[in-house]
Amino acid sequence: MAKKILVYVEMAGAELAPVSLEVLTKARQLGDVAAVVLDSQAATTAPLLGSYGAATLYAGVEDDYRKFVAQPAAATLASLTEEQHPDLILFGATYDARDICARLSARVGLTVVANATDVVARGDGFAAISSVFGATQNVTTELDGPSPCVLLRPKSVAAETVQGPAAKVVNLALPEGAPRGARRLESVVAPASGPKLEEARVVVSGGRGLQDPSNFAMLEDLAALLHGAVGASRAVVDAGWVPYARQVGQTGKTVKPDVYLACGISGAMQHTVGMKGAKHIIAINKDREAPIFKLCDLGVIGDVLKIVPALVAELKSRGVSG
Ligand SMILES: Cc1cc2nc3c(=O)[nH]c(=O)nc-3n(C[C@H](O)[C@H](O)[C@H](O)COP(=O)(O)OP(=O)(O)OC[C@H]3O[C@@H](n4cnc5c(N)ncnc54)[C@H](O)[C@@H]3O)c2cc1C
Repeated sequence: MAKKILVYVEMAGAELAPVSLEVLTKARQLGDVAAVVLDSQAATTAPLLGSYGAATLYAGVEDDYRKFVAQPAAATLASLTEEQHPDLILFGATYDARDICARLSARVGLTVVANATDVVARGDGFAAISSVFGATQNVTTELDGPSPCVLLRPKSVAAETVQGPAAKVVNLALPEGAPRGARRLESVVAPASGPKLEEARVVVSGGRGLQDPSNFAMLEDLAALLHGAVGASRAVVDAGWVPYARQVGQTGKTVKPDVYLACGISGAMQHTVGMKGAKHIIAINKDREAPIFKLCDLGVIGDVLKIVPALVAELKSRGVSG
């Protein structure tokens, strides 16, 4: 009999979060998929969820899911788990999902593997694959017990649609007495122009080799011309040059663009684990021994402060205007 896979699907505004579409794609390789959406707009997502292979949509539309942090969602998932006994519960590894999954596991007593890069069928159950030691080794963890939970890292799987009918909507009620201890006072969307770092097809990243935070402006210019996003190494994030949201790497974001341009970045393992999946890597560094040159497809040995402005001028002279 096909396994029952429950996927916690998040919404980002009126859209489904990209990581949730990735997780749905993985889920349908493992069994029959039911999605849970806890949002006032939940029912509107049925056609899209169907096109990612979900047969059923459990829709919770109460405002309390938005108003309170994690607890109402965890209580709802706990009661659904006790009723449906899914063979596996999958989440995208987001901040909200980590909170919710931890509470769910504590309530029902479920196995959790966080930050996995893959889930596979193994024997009669499942195993999660995680990357450790700067992605130099993979660990396979057999998932024990009923309804184990796995949080999959964004960009672990490429999201792909299938021809599927709209998911059948089943309304969920918020269980009586669900705790509501932590109220969300305000949600602020950081102002941003251009594509999101995790979704951009071109990423222009800067490191300590840029010498000064003001020099990030030239990366902004280049990224705008290439319809890309600006990323950064941890060294410059720690130095306060750019916000953490731009950090690429082990403790930052994982990106898989078509082109990754590393400007003045040495190529430490903790950085490269977050970008080595890019289709093409270009590095500019004045040190010909820099480790990034071992990884890149095209290496430019030289001063980033001269090369990037020259690249911007060349693109503009060819009529590229962003
Ligand atoms: C637990 C842990 C987690 C970490 N997580 C992350 C992470 O998520 N992301 C991350 O990035 N790092 C991470 N790090 C830090 C990582 O080890 C490196 O220290 C960091 O990536 C270095 O950043 P950088 O390349 O900008 O700086 P540096 O290593 O100082 O390199 C700067 C480079 O710029 C070059 N350069 C200097 N001037 C110029 C110039 N004018 N033109 C061209 N090139 C020039 C230099 O040759 C050098 O190669 C982590 C470390 C630890 C211990």
